[in-house]
Amino acid sequence: MSTPSPETAVGLPVSAAQDMIANAVQPVTGTNTVLLHEALGRVLAVDVVAPINVPAHDNSAMDGYAFAGAVLAAGGTLTFSVVGIALAGRAWAGTVAPGECVRIMTGAVMPADCDTVVPQELTLTSSADHMTLAADVVRAGDNRRHAGEDLALGKVALARGRLLRPAELGLLASLGLTEVIVHRRVRVAFFSTGDEICAPGEPLRTGSVYDSNRTTIHGMLLRLGCEPLDLGIVADDPAALQAALERASLLEADAVITSGGVSVGEADYIRQIMTQMGEVNFWKLLMRPGRPMAFGQIEAGGSTLHLFGLPGNPVAAMVSFYFFVREALLRMMGATPEPLMLLQARSLVAMRKKPGRTEYQRGIVSTDATGARSVRITGSQGAGILRSMSEANCIVVLGHEQGNVDAGEAVDVLLFDGLY
Ligand code: AMP
Ligand code: MG
Repeated sequence: MSTPSPETAVGLPVSAAQDMIANAVQPVTGTNTVLLHEALGRVLAVDVVAPINVPAHDNSAMDGYAFAGAVLAAGGTLTFSVVGIALAGRAWAGTVAPGECVRIMTGAVMPADCDTVVPQELTLTSSADHMTLAADVVRAGDNRRHAGEDLALGKVALARGRLLRPAELGLLASLGLTEVIVHRRVRVAFFSTGDEICAPGEPLRTGSVYDSNRTTIHGMLLRLGCEPLDLGIVADDPAALQAALERASLLEADAVITSGGVSVGEADYIRQIMTQMGEVNFWKLLMRPGRPMAFGQIEAGGSTLHLFGLPGNPVAAMVSFYFFVREALLRMMGATPEPLMLLQARSLVAMRKKPGRTEYQRGIVSTDATGARSVRITGSQGAGILRSMSEANCIVVLGHEQGNVDAGEAVDVLLFDGLY
């Protein structure tokens, strides 16, 4: 283990820890070719170059009449004879002379001689053979979609590293593609530690608590699109912890997440094991909740695994996952994560806060009739009270430098909704 610098002796600021993690992790190698229907939440491993123009042809953006816009220059009221009809999927192949127009529907290919569409509702009169319009209701070129205006043939339509959401999958489908090459899933082993931790379904022993962390971590990993490898509950025993980490390596995990056992208590062995098996980058953060959180690498079975030692307290474990592990896993998945989007909301209450550490409080954001956003803090903020996470719809982030917050002051919040 590297000698702790003076600031790591008291703890590392959150942003420094986040940078350290970002620099330490790399995208996994290995790709899969998957059907679009199976690609949601995966990350593109290669640039996708458009094999066609989208749209493939110039086409109409409106139901109306197509004609050559040059005649508009004359001004006044213009009369056209209707010489044909163009439907979506059924182009009109004839010629269109000046003074003539084609009835056209949205999405229909523009007839060769036409560059302008007047929407039906802007015409003065229309019948099967004639249409009249005031020349000033459209300009030449209006309501025509150009071939390739969405995606141009030969250009990168989506760059590698893109996380595939429904919009990206639709875009790939619009190119006529059925499959896509994505990074393989990141394999994440996880286990809970603690002699007092008891598996749900078993009788609760005196002094025990049911293991909730393994279930929350499993859920968060699935949301992120990782492959979870559940290694169960491990006793506060160095040999058992070492065996669990070796098992993670045998299972070819890319990372391991543990919960509990990272403080300085009698039975907190995670840091010791990490030091024996590899390297601890940091283990104490200037944050609340979640002050003890270890990050480092272990060598086992000939491979190197990143280890995230989360605190045991259920709220602290979740907060640490969202603010540290999530982004690291996204990077390992091959994505280029954007910083988490924080919104501003007016705090309905005053909050005590010491500068020099980051604090995360569970909050409920609401919008009043005028559209103003405000946030209140959920009842009990204890790091072990998971109910506070369940009742909350956001986390209030009080930054490192921030001091006390007055009621009515704006604070940063991270909405849970949309947090994958
Ligand atoms: P530790 O970080 O091991 O000192 O644990 C801190 C607190 O979190 C203790 O009260 C533990 O009982 C509790 N805890 C640890 N692991 C879990 C878990 N997997 N599920 C629920 N509570 C836990
Ligand atoms: Mg413990």
